[in-house]
Amino acid sequence: MLDNYKDKQDLIYNLMIRAINNNKISHAYLIESNKNITVDDFVLAIIKTIVCPNHYTNSTLCNDCHLCDRIDDGNFTELKIIEPDGLWIKKEQLLDLQDEFTKKGVENEKRIYIIKNCDRMNGQAANSLLKFLEEPVDNIYAFLITDNINRVLKTIVSRCQILTMKSEKENFDKTIQSLANLIGNSKTMYDQIINDDKYQKMIDGATQFISYLEKYKYDTIIYNKKMWHDIFKDKEGNIIGIDLLINFYYDVLRMKIGIERIFYKEYLDIFDFVNKNNEMDKILKKLNILLEVKENIKFNLNPTLMVDKLVIDLGGV
Ligand SMILES: [Zn+2]
Repeated sequence: MLDNYKDKQDLIYNLMIRAINNNKISHAYLIESNKNITVDDFVLAIIKTIVCPNHYTNSTLCNDCHLCDRIDDGNFTELKIIEPDGLWIKKEQLLDLQDEFTKKGVENEKRIYIIKNCDRMNGQAANSLLKFLEEPVDNIYAFLITDNINRVLKTIVSRCQILTMKSEKENFDKTIQSLANLIGNSKTMYDQIINDDKYQKMIDGATQFISYLEKYKYDTIIYNKKMWHDIFKDKEGNIIGIDLLINFYYDVLRMKIGIERIFYKEYLDIFDFVNKNNEMDKILKKLNILLEVKENIKFNLNPTLMVDKLVIDLGGV
């Protein structure tokens, strides 16, 4: 549903809502996907909002129309999806589409076509599409999708309203920024201890703790508990320990989106392992658990219980 994109793709979201509410939907949109893997879902969500008689952006509200369901099930006959047949989109695919869409449809029913990878169109196909775009028909709407607008014929681009999606990376940057605010001063702490030999044991210990936990989950509880208490002794030690774990997962998060790690420069194999075995949302969950534990230590959470909780909660993600 379109509401899922309210924040992530706010510009397009707001623009489309305005267009739909004012009944000023363009005949052709060119969506620049910016390599967003959710582009197909996003375009379908826009189309559902257009087609739905109530223009609902939230499908749970959609009890009295079946159109949204039919689109979800791929059974909406007034929606055609064209994608490359082999390497290229062929002229015949577009001629078939035009044939079908120029026959008179049900009155006032909106008809929509999507062309995926519209940059992969040979010259003849592009010309057929161009003719179709040049003579817009009421209630027919086009959604062309590309991840490389420079390869789309200029004459096609000029006939479309261009919608550029924000890249996933931009969205991740925002997530990271809000985490950075939460993590707060741990970078300062880390900078202070990184060059101090007496803390090396702690950094090694935190990394070891994660390595065992990630590989063996709950089975590490006895070993990890002992190791933790040997290294991170008092309340202050525990806070440093948790901070080191937070920094580790924060660096994994940066690694995931191709940004240089800032805390840990070594231990590449452990980072690789954790990165490969954790989706983005798992890393975020683990960071949330750690941030919560850090809060609780300040309120004198018993250190033994704390390590149990860490292994159980983190191991369960
Ligand atoms: Zn609906």
